[in-house]
Amino acid sequence: MRMVSPAVKVKKIPMRQCIACRTKKPKRELMRIVRDPEGHLHLDLKGKSPGRGAYICVSGACLRKATKENLFARHLDAKPDAALLAELDDLFGDIES
Ligand SMILES: [Zn+2]
Repeated sequence: MRMVSPAVKVKKIPMRQCIACRTKKPKRELMRIVRDPEGHLHLDLKGKSPGRGAYICVSGACLRKATKENLFARHLDAKPDAALLAELDDLFGDIES
């Protein structure tokens, strides 16, 4: 017999951890960087690209920390190129949180 309580049916919000500050946040509040099969990193705005991904807060502080400490490379085994870093900086380099 399976025990299914109504409480279990509450929709769970998927949580992901920021690679910089390690805070867990709802997936949609984080940016996803994905590594494609060729080993290139790119921004996954829809959060649906296949491949290995890393998440980061939409925060200039987290972006700088991730860049300075090479966290993208550590988590994804690939280095973000200058274009991606410029794109990220453009999007949220000035946002403090
Ligand atoms: Zn963060």
